[in-house]
This record gives sequence, C-alpha cells and structure tokens, in this order.
Amino acid sequence: MKKNNRIRALLKAAEAMSQGDFTSDIPTGNDEIGQLGKSLEKLSGYLQKQLERSQSLYKIMVECNHNLHLIDVLNHIYESFQDHLPYDRISLALLENDGNKLKLHWSRAKYDPLILNIGLTIPASDHSVLAITNPREMLVIDDLNSYLEKHSKSRLTQAIFSEGIRSCLICPLLAGGKPIGFIFFSSRDKSVYKDLHSHQDLALQIASQISVLIEKNQLYQGVKLNKQLKAQKKSLEQRVTHDALTGLFNRPGIFDILHKQIQRAKRGGYGIAIIMIDIDHFKAINDTYGHLAGDAVLCEIANRLTQSARSHEYIGRYGGEEFLAIISPYNQDGALRAAERFRNAVACKEIKANETFVSVTISLGVAISAEAKTLDEKLLLKKADEALYQAKHKGRNRVELADNTMIEKIS
Ligand code: GH3
Ligand code: MG
Ligand code: MG
Repeated sequence: MKKNNRIRALLKAAEAMSQGDFTSDIPTGNDEIGQLGKSLEKLSGYLQKQLERSQSLYKIMVECNHNLHLIDVLNHIYESFQDHLPYDRISLALLENDGNKLKLHWSRAKYDPLILNIGLTIPASDHSVLAITNPREMLVIDDLNSYLEKHSKSRLTQAIFSEGIRSCLICPLLAGGKPIGFIFFSSRDKSVYKDLHSHQDLALQIASQISVLIEKNQLYQGVKLNKQLKAQKKSLEQRVTHDALTGLFNRPGIFDILHKQIQRAKRGGYGIAIIMIDIDHFKAINDTYGHLAGDAVLCEIANRLTQSARSHEYIGRYGGEEFLAIISPYNQDGALRAAERFRNAVACKEIKANETFVSVTISLGVAISAEAKTLDEKLLLKKADEALYQAKHKGRNRVELADNTMIEKIS
C-alpha cells in the first residue's frame, strides 16, 4: 500500500476507534508508519478490553438495581470476568454476629472437589482468619506455598492450598465504612495478581458493587422490618414457596425462579437449561414398603439432589415424584453433566426404606435454550417432558436431551 493510503487507513482506524468501532484494518510494517500501525493495533486491543470490562461492570450495576439476589449477582460476576481477571475460584465470606464470625456464603470454582465449602463458619479471632485478612486492606498472596510456611497454623490457608490454589487476591467489603466481609479471587497459578492497574483495580470495583448491594439489602431490612416481623415473614414465605415434605421449592416456587431466571437470561443474553426428573417405578416402592417409607425415599432423593446441586442450579418439587432443576446460566455440556451428576447422586447408593435398603433410580429429560428469542417457559417444559418420556422409554435410570432444533424452529 502507498504511503498516503496507509496514513489514510491509520486515520480511518483511529477515527473508527474513537466511535467505539474496532473492526477497521490497521496496516502494520517495519518502517515508521508500520510501527505506528502496530502501536495503534495495541491501543485498539487495550481499549476494546477496557470497553468490555466497563460493559461487564455496567451489567453488574443493572443486576444490582433489579434487586436480584446476591447469588445471582455473584454468578454473573463469575461468568463475566474470566477474560479480565484470572481465577479458578471466587468465594464470598461475610462477617456475622457483630463481626465475631466469618461465614463462607457463596463459592464457585472450576474444579472439584472443594474442601472449603459454603456454610463454613469460623470465629473471626481464629488464626485462619487473622492470617489472611486485615479487614480494611486488599491482600495479594503471590505464592501460597511460602505464605503457608509463615502462617502454618492457618487452617483456611491449608485447606485452600490443598485444593491446589497458589495465589489469592482478597478484597474487603465495606458498608458505611465498616468491614462486612471479603471476596476472594483464587488461582491455581502462582503470581497472577501482580498487575496492580488492571487486576487489583477491577477486583476493588467488583468488591465495591457487592458491598453496595449488601448494604442496600441490610438497610432495607433494617428500616422496614423488626426482628419478629422478619421471622414471621420468612416462615410465611417458606410455606408459600417451599414444599412441606421435602423442603425443596414447591411448584409455584420453582416456577417463579424459572420466570425470573428467564428474564435475567434475556437481559444478559445467555441461555438456560431445565431438567425434568422423575423417580423410576416409585409406585412399586409405595406398594412394597408402604407410603411412609415412600415419603422417606422421596425426602432422601430431594436431599441428594440438593447436595449435588451447584450454586447456580435450582431444584424444586414439580409434582408427586417429579422434580424440576433449573440451570441458569448454562454452558453447552454443563447441563448434561449436571443431569448426569444428579442421576448418579441418586443411583450411587441404596436408600433406606423401612428397615431395608433399596436401590432407587431417576430418569431425566434435559431441554436447553441458547438464545434470547427461544427462551420460553412452556416450550422448555414441554421439551424437557418429552425428553423425560424418551429416557423412560429407553429403559430408565438415564439422561436424555430434548431435540434442540425443535426449540429453535417453534420459536
Ligand atoms: P415410572 O418409572 O414410569 O415413573 O413409574 P412410577 O411408578 O414412578 O410412576 P407412576 O406415575 O405410576 O407412579 C407414581 C407414584 O408416585 C404414584 C404415587 O402414589 C406416588 N407418589 C406421588 N407423590 C407421592 C408422595 O408425596 N409420597 C409418596 N409416598 N408417594 C407419592
Ligand atoms: Mg411421574
Ligand atoms: Mg415415576
């Protein structure tokens, strides 16, 4: 290309970049104009990343303003920042009891199994907590191995080390200037959080959004409800949305979640999977061992499904001996893996019915919708039901995937 044309192309690309368009061809080479092209290309890459990053942060703000559950926002963060911040695990721990206890409220990781699990509570005075957290400052651990040598008594550090984690970025969450908890980003690689400008800044911005959401919820609760009212409200809500026998979401409860998750998926531009689950030959269990034993088996299955569900998977009792799982958001093979995980959780070990142990299995029908325009409750349920029928037809104790092309076609 001639010199003038190349300069014109560079000008055009720079002009387009200033309008947020990064698609123009940028001529590069080894002479001065070519070098300028290379620099412009680098700048384009950097600006594009920054733009994506602010769009992701903006989406978190939108999620917070929609008053979604904290868990939804955390899942959103986990899914949105992989390209901007290195992590294999994100965890949220909150201080409870006037700051005397630290409880792991939420966690999601790329690997299995987790040693530090949700619900873990430790006194804030414990070595483990003191060792990794100074409530007001961000802490970066580049090499957990050498950190562990210095803080050998920290059980938390030992546990996270044995999960394979080698570096951590821990950000305090502050509300009204007071520490309320921490968000932990952890990676199985050493020294990944060195980039002060990019990684640490971004982590702080994420932490501040989470703090705002928690503070907003706490203020709302504090102003509107006293403790007794809160307890009554909770038990009423529990009764309205949960099944008395199994403790799972009941039909209206799980439908409400499905509705909300579909709205959320439409806003976020990602897909949803649902799994229809039915116990195999359950009538025979009732007939052989009695209805009460049948109830106990039903509860144990509900329990196993809940135990094996991840934080972005919701389980409800759809009807009699049928369950509905919602996976939101899903990734292509994640839904099938989840269904297989549920199937195995039930089939892997016999269940006690009266005094004997019986082997019980479930059949599962999976329906997924990958695009906003195909996200439809009725259609997903119909397809999952058909897939479940197939699973029964093909011999039970198995997972079947609905014919996805039909979903695309109908809508
Ligand atoms: P399939 O593998 O085809 O699903 O066979 P199945 O026997 O599981 O299916 P069927 O629909 O014939 O029977 C379902 C049984 O589930 C009948 C009903 O009595 C029982 N059931 C439904 N709800 C409950 C409950 O809350 N407790 C107990 N114990 N049984 C229940
Ligand atoms: Mg049934
Ligand atoms: Mg059945």
